[in-house]
Amino acid sequence: MKLEGKLLINGKIKALTGLHIGGATTDAAIGDIDNCVIKTSEGVPFIPGSSLKGKLRSLLEKKEGLNLCRCGRASCNICVIFGSGADKRTVEAGPTRLLVRDCHLTEETKNKMENNEGEFKELELIYTEIKWENVIDRLTSAAQHPRQMERVPRGAEFDFQMVFNLMEKQDVDRFEYFMRGLSLLEDDYLGGSGSRGYGLFSSRIYR
Ligand SMILES: [Zn+2]
Repeated sequence: MKLEGKLLINGKIKALTGLHIGGATTDAAIGDIDNCVIKTSEGVPFIPGSSLKGKLRSLLEKKEGLNLCRCGRASCNICVIFGSGADKRTVEAGPTRLLVRDCHLTEETKNKMENNEGEFKELELIYTEIKWENVIDRLTSAAQHPRQMERVPRGAEFDFQMVFNLMEKQDVDRFEYFMRGLSLLEDDYLGGSGSRGYGLFSSRIYR
C-alpha cells in the first residue's frame, strides 16, 4: 500500500457554552474533569487533536452500535480510519488514515480576548473564565465545598484541520463514510461536564 493522495478537511468549532477540556495529554482527556483547561506552552487554551479524534470515533462507534472497537481488521471502517492498537492491526488494514491536528483559537477570537472586546469583555483570565460550581454528593444530595472550574468562554472559535490519507480505492468510500460521521459532531459535547451543560459546540466544514 502506498500513499495515493491526501484530503484536507478544514473547519471551525465554536463553543456554544463554556468549554472545559482538562489538562491531561492522553486520549483520556475527553470526559476528564480537572479544574484547569489544557493550554499550549504559551498559555493559550486549545483542543487536542487526540480529544477531537477520540470524540469522533466514539460518535461513529455509537452510531454503528459498537463499543470501543479495536478489531484492527481491514473490513472495519472504524479501525482502518482511526487506528487500533499496534498489536491488533492487520497488515491488510494498512496505516491509520486519519490525522487530526490540534485545534487552536482563531486569530479573531484570540485578538478579541486579548483586547477585552465584545462577548469576551469580562473574562477573569485572558483567555478563560472561572466559574464556581457546587459539587453535589450523589448519595446524600448534600452540597460539598464549591470548587472553581476554568472554562473557555462561550463564543470562542477554534480552527480545525484533519488529513485523510488515501491509500487504496476503498478509501474513497471510507472518506464518504467518515464525512457522514463528521456531521454527528454538530451539537454534541466535547470535554468534561457535558451533563452540566458545558462543552456544547457547533462545527462548520469548508470544502
Ligand atoms: Zn474494528
